[in-house]
Amino acid sequence: MTDFKELAIEEALRSELGKTAVFGRHQRDIRTPMNFVLDEAEKQMGPQFSVYWVKTGPPDVFCLSGFSPSPVVFSSRYLSLTAFIRHLFVDDWLKNMLVEVAERTTLKLMAEMALWQGDPDYSVLAFVKSMTGKGIYLSDDDQLMDLEYAPVSEAYMATWFYALVHELGHLNPDHQQNFPTGHLFSDEAILNAITVKLDDFPYYSPSMRQEAVELAKQSGSKSVLAIDHVRSEGLADMFAASVLLQAASNIMRDIRKPFSIPQFIQELIIFFNIIAVIDRCTRVASIASARTADREARFELALQPVALRVRALMQHHYLDSAITMFLHGSDYTMEQYQRVVTMINGINKTNAEIINAVDSGLARAMEFSLFPERRENDRALLEAFLKDFAHSGPGIQETLRFCKMADAIRAESKLLQALKGIVSDSSKSCHRL
Ligand SMILES: [Zn+2]
Repeated sequence: MTDFKELAIEEALRSELGKTAVFGRHQRDIRTPMNFVLDEAEKQMGPQFSVYWVKTGPPDVFCLSGFSPSPVVFSSRYLSLTAFIRHLFVDDWLKNMLVEVAERTTLKLMAEMALWQGDPDYSVLAFVKSMTGKGIYLSDDDQLMDLEYAPVSEAYMATWFYALVHELGHLNPDHQQNFPTGHLFSDEAILNAITVKLDDFPYYSPSMRQEAVELAKQSGSKSVLAIDHVRSEGLADMFAASVLLQAASNIMRDIRKPFSIPQFIQELIIFFNIIAVIDRCTRVASIASARTADREARFELALQPVALRVRALMQHHYLDSAITMFLHGSDYTMEQYQRVVTMINGINKTNAEIINAVDSGLARAMEFSLFPERRENDRALLEAFLKDFAHSGPGIQETLRFCKMADAIRAESKLLQALKGIVSDSSKSCHRL
């Protein structure tokens, strides 16, 4: 790459990520699991990308348009957050209180996103709400160190690379083709799946359904439910599954560790949902941070679960045949195929209860964020927080981390000032004890 091009990319990244961001181009010449995965991605779609790591900056993963190969940006904070949210889906001990812990976790995520979106006041309210009460909360401390030293496994591969490879999937030239009528991914097939999946949401009014279908059909529509958008996301999910299946099974073979297909599928389903949770929290934070009510943004938020159902269906179809082929080669029998379908159905069923509980927690966090008139006033929220956390070491640590993050972003507001005052008083009284 020429120096001039590299500089132009850096400048574009700087304007996207903010002045304080620290980032650099990922080096491909050493043998690491990441390069193993990137080699596999390149094998499947050609040299379409270069990867940039963001060490300090907003939690995000995206492609920067206008350059070839395309820079794909992946922040370590995003990685850390996916690992943090993964706890909701895998920690057995959380099962009985999952709705509440999911509410707290997603509120905290919304608080962080709102800081980046420039609304420290709402951010503080979401943060204090996530920390108030006697319940359990998960620490969102940087998980990177633990992640780096974790042994390579199905979970390791999905945690590190699912989101990144999904993003790379958006650059796959094969996905830009026209899918003819009758194809599983043709416009008609996707629209049909959207209409069917809308029925999973009986509380949507007939006029809302009608509007959703119209939006899906509109050419050039930017909606989450637009046929092109749903297809592109679904194909990127499949690309992630395809690359990770090859890369994970090969790496595990090289290090002489057994590769578990059910475990691998389980992780794919979990990460599909984790990314959906982060996307939802980002959208909620953006609506909550805007000063005026934006009907379109709220409507998009309501349509997002429909798009996810269609994508999950596409992923299910894909995995049914990809896993059968992986296990039995391309001339598999119907019986072998059926066995794989039954296995994947079983894994989906086991996860359904957890996914529903996380959704319920997220719905509560959304209610807090999107309906300010229904929540206690600012002062009451801060006082409740103060009462619970005046003598709590871990709570103070968590709050200090939040304030530090706000400082790094150079956020300033009255409520942030008040929160800093509470923490500084509480930590002084803790030291005295
Ligand atoms: Zn995507």
